[in-house]
Amino acid sequence: MDRIDEVLGEVPLPPYVTAEDVDFAVRAIAVHAPEQGPDGLRCRNDQAAHPCRLHRWGQRVLAERGLSEAQVRASVTHHEASAVRP
Ligand SMILES: [Zn+2]
Repeated sequence: MDRIDEVLGEVPLPPYVTAEDVDFAVRAIAVHAPEQGPDGLRCRNDQAAHPCRLHRWGQRVLAERGLSEAQVRASVTHHEASAVRP
């Protein structure tokens, strides 16, 4: 865990996970994807050790919502395929 994680702790989950939260969570997981760094996997968005806080938050939201790992992967893949690239 990076030092920033120890200072800030985990991002709190919303009290009730809505469809909109699921959408945010899928986006967070897609954006905060791992990439290989010199010392292991790093978040390609914020360079924190993977999984970074937002990636973990996304996973917790989707787990709370009862999505399986396969469903999460499918949603993220779908999101990446449909994302508008600049
Ligand atoms: Zn990240």
